[in-house]
Amino acid sequence: MKKLLLLFTTLFMLQNVNAQTTYILCGKLLDTKSGVISSKKTIVVKGDKVSKILDGYVAPKSSTANVIDLKDKVVLPGLIDFHVHIEQEFNRNTRLNNYILNEADVAFNSVGFAKTTLLNGFTSVRDLGGTGVNISIKNAINSGKIMGPRVFTAGKSLATTGGHADPTNGSSRKLIGNPGPKEGVVNSVDDAKKAVRQRYKNGADCIKITATGGVLSVAKSGDNPQFTIEEIKAICETAEDYGMHVAAHAHGDEGMKRAIIGGVKTIEHGTYMSEGTMGLMKKHDTYLVPTITAGKEVEEKAKIEGFYPEIVVPKALAVGPQIQGTFAKAYKKGVGIAFGTDAGVFKHGNNGKEFGFMVEAGMPAIEAIQSATITNAMLLKMSDEIGQIQKGFYADIIAVDEDPTKNINTMENVVFVMKNGVVYKEK
Ligand SMILES: [Zn+2]
Repeated sequence: MKKLLLLFTTLFMLQNVNAQTTYILCGKLLDTKSGVISSKKTIVVKGDKVSKILDGYVAPKSSTANVIDLKDKVVLPGLIDFHVHIEQEFNRNTRLNNYILNEADVAFNSVGFAKTTLLNGFTSVRDLGGTGVNISIKNAINSGKIMGPRVFTAGKSLATTGGHADPTNGSSRKLIGNPGPKEGVVNSVDDAKKAVRQRYKNGADCIKITATGGVLSVAKSGDNPQFTIEEIKAICETAEDYGMHVAAHAHGDEGMKRAIIGGVKTIEHGTYMSEGTMGLMKKHDTYLVPTITAGKEVEEKAKIEGFYPEIVVPKALAVGPQIQGTFAKAYKKGVGIAFGTDAGVFKHGNNGKEFGFMVEAGMPAIEAIQSATITNAMLLKMSDEIGQIQKGFYADIIAVDEDPTKNINTMENVVFVMKNGVVYKEK
């Protein structure tokens, strides 16, 4: 035992000795906690963590240290998108893909999506549902086999029979089978508990439910409630036992209310949220994940003949244009906002567009950036690890050309990306 301990200590020390030191010279540095931008700072990164922040441009004493010159850039912490689908990117063939792609095909496709997401400044994402390959993607990224953001994944979302995330919606009856909790379809309190425990076993980090109908599923309603409150409560309580929070996709008000009362942490989209429900969100400390970019995308694509199945088009045209307005109202009412885009419904890598849409709807730029950093870090219970550039935090650091509080669209063009102390993009 003693020998083993010694071995571990030696390995740890070796790792520390070998930890690369990098000095990042920042023309401007945005502190997401205070919202203050200061000039001429040097961030010292050791290994995967920020070791200190110094005033002025400081040259390293050691000749082995790297120096990165970002003197003409604005530096800020890596961004966190709370709603992506890292496994897929919606196109005309998406429906067919469900039947012709194998898991390996999905995995290979997702390698590019993960890389693009990271290179656009998103160093962490919450993945809200795929086939379950997303858990393997997370593991491959964490072990350094592929490039991508830190992923917190729901695995396969939970739905009820015929609900938004029932994987066999719109299929020939020959192909439907009888999906159950294992496949993410629940129809009772017992099913609900089993489905959550199954996701824990599979390696999920959080739970996603589809509390109401949705736009892109091959089903009639885009907003009806699809779970009983008892089922939602069972999901939330079981998830809590396993240290997971619950995210609820919701467009309609009734399903949203049940989800909030049932104990979910975030409402995704929130399209038809009433004023009363906004009050309920505040009371229960539930956060809205706006996904305005996805709303704009489905509205635009629904106008292209044949892009979506016929049953999807009227839903896309009704829901899409509402999302930004609801966000504006909820923000004004004081509902907590957690930045999230629904990337995968639109092209991965375009996540940064969401900032512009949030600002357009009345949220100050600095608050939009805070929603994508400190708020999401807090919801992940990682307030001391990500979302800020501070001593002891993971060295997730990005840079843009302009001051985003003056031109928010600069967030669409991230020019430098470091994650865990490793540089992935430089000018
Ligand atoms: Zn989604």
